[in-house]
Amino acid sequence: TKVGDFLPSEGRRLTVLSGPSGVGKSTVVAEIRRAHPEVWLSVSVTTRRPRPGETNGVHYFFVDGEEFDRLVAAGELLEWAEFAGNRYGTPRRAVMEKLEAGVPTLLEIDLEGARQVRRSMPEALLVFLAPPSWEELEKRLRGRGTEPEDVIARRLDAGRIEMAAEKEFDLTLVNTNVQDVCHRLIALMTDPLGVTTTT
Ligand code: 5GP
Repeated sequence: TKVGDFLPSEGRRLTVLSGPSGVGKSTVVAEIRRAHPEVWLSVSVTTRRPRPGETNGVHYFFVDGEEFDRLVAAGELLEWAEFAGNRYGTPRRAVMEKLEAGVPTLLEIDLEGARQVRRSMPEALLVFLAPPSWEELEKRLRGRGTEPEDVIARRLDAGRIEMAAEKEFDLTLVNTNVQDVCHRLIALMTDPLGVTTTT
């Protein structure tokens, strides 16, 4: 069965959460992992090194470049992209199995990955996580102010370009409050009629 054969009747159960870097995607995902076991979170493969507190198989599958090449060549990734010098991808089989079982499935991926899902699975619901304001994103991108001004300037430029991607998405959730964003996202994912209103 191809995914397109059953997704429309099952409702749009594949949801993609994306947005500019620094907007707080991983905080939202951490809250969903904690409070919403009814939603399945795809575990990506990445060539980046684990950070303290990250568990292999939970937050990511950590692989080397050679293994990542193999996964790409074997067609095992639904999408993949390079981000800040590392590669990230979504294992295809696990996603397909969850979708076939009717489990609401969430991918948290970068904007390039979201574009690829848009092309390969047009039924997917693409959700853009936006900062409350550009000023707020700028504040977050500037972080603790330990980086040189040219690095900050580059991140701000990238942020502006990333914000322009919003129009490619089905809808926007503004990340004013993590609980609120999670609530809206879960409602969207589990509402079979897709009639949930968002503002
Ligand atoms: P981090 O290294 O901070 O965990 O993630 C960096 C970026 O990679 C984030 O924007 C995150 O959404 C994105 N990302 C994580 N997994 C995937 C994936 O499987 N595919 C794509 N395209 N991006 C991913």
